[in-house]
Amino acid sequence: MTYQNYSLDQLRAIDNAHHLHPFTDHKDLRAAGTRVVVSAEGPFVYDTEGNEILDAMAGLWCVNAGYGREELVEAATAQMRELPYYNSFFRCTTPTPTLLSQKLAEISPGNINQVFYGSSGSESNDTALRLVRHYWALEGRPEKNIVISRNWAYHGSTIAGTSLGGMEAMHAQLYGAVPNIRHVMCPYAYENAEPGESDHDFGLRAAKAVEDAILEAGAENVAAFIGEPIQGAGGVKIPPASYWPEIQRICEKYDVLLMLDEVITGYGRTGEWFAAQSMNIKPDTITTAKGLTSGYQPLSALLVGDRIANTLVEKGGEFYHGYTYSGHPVACAVALKNIEIIEREGLIDRVREDTGPYLGDALKAGLGDHPLVGEIRTCGLLAAVEIVRDKSTRERFQPAGSAPVVIRDHAIASGIMMRAVMDTMIMSPPLIWTRETVDMAVERIGKALDLAQADLA
Ligand code: PLP
Repeated sequence: MTYQNYSLDQLRAIDNAHHLHPFTDHKDLRAAGTRVVVSAEGPFVYDTEGNEILDAMAGLWCVNAGYGREELVEAATAQMRELPYYNSFFRCTTPTPTLLSQKLAEISPGNINQVFYGSSGSESNDTALRLVRHYWALEGRPEKNIVISRNWAYHGSTIAGTSLGGMEAMHAQLYGAVPNIRHVMCPYAYENAEPGESDHDFGLRAAKAVEDAILEAGAENVAAFIGEPIQGAGGVKIPPASYWPEIQRICEKYDVLLMLDEVITGYGRTGEWFAAQSMNIKPDTITTAKGLTSGYQPLSALLVGDRIANTLVEKGGEFYHGYTYSGHPVACAVALKNIEIIEREGLIDRVREDTGPYLGDALKAGLGDHPLVGEIRTCGLLAAVEIVRDKSTRERFQPAGSAPVVIRDHAIASGIMMRAVMDTMIMSPPLIWTRETVDMAVERIGKALDLAQADLA
């Protein structure tokens, strides 16, 4: 039986009766009712009421190749027919994870040649945390196990992911975080820079917070630093250009491993395969998921640098870790085809050379003067619009985070799906967007801002 046998009201009633949603206030959801999305094509999603909505979030930062890709459907069904499942435990593998690993090694930064699979970004960050600690233990330094992270980081929703992340509200519901994880300030100049402090100086100061934390813990006790090249769920916080080179220098100086979380920034979003390449960062691990399959299958890949992989192989001993679906053959078949599509259609070059810069220019030209807009930041096809009550003083609407929710609701009603994070509106559209799609988005966001301004006045 398919959903067509049900009316919208029936689907909502069943959902209310039985479905607990992620990151949701269920009392609020029961009152508001669920939006039921039923189909999608190209850059658009469609709900049961027939609304066509431009999906400026690519689902949840993941549908990089856009919706309606028959080739991905075919890759999945062909693989399911041939071999729907086999594991990669016990000295076994299947062809697709093997070939995908080779492909990922080819497109990753030069020092990365090994891959460990999971089904989600959260799982892969668990793997990354266990792996860096295991690495130091194999090197005879088990006490070197503290990991430095940042406020507002999002590294997933498992206990390890939440512990690594820097979201206060999530920590408050942890009732016992994974030990030996410390958090420092994030490079968010719009709110954290001192008056008159240049972006460059602020970037160095934010990096120094990492160095201070290493020194406070004792470098001999610090395993790694973890960071998203651009904090995504924390509000598309794009660090000043001075930040990452300084982080790299600090990690090298204190022999601290550098872990990147590219679950959002990976697979073309910043105009290279990985933000590590856009920003010239040389990480020891890169956590990836989402755009790896464009969301058509759940799959994550932890890309592991030679330093860690060589120790794992040379020292030997079992790494007691893995998932039933590590290297799932169907998910890996879809990932291979997805990467082929991204390459064949030149989507990454397009983001770097055309649509990425065009998005930044068009948002600034179309919305920069709007009274509600405090700042517009973009990198590739990632964008943030800071919402303020007063442009000159950067005063926010109260309570914190309330205004973007009003804007988001108007945005959806105006035909564009955006997300609100605290006082920031964010976008992460499919890489198939063209200049025309960008223009459509700017026009719809402008309309939503005007409508919201009337409500907020
Ligand atoms: N890391 C980052 C940077 C993310 O943005 C996310 C999800 O949004 C995750 C990890 C967790 O991924 P998942 O939801 O697939 O577990």
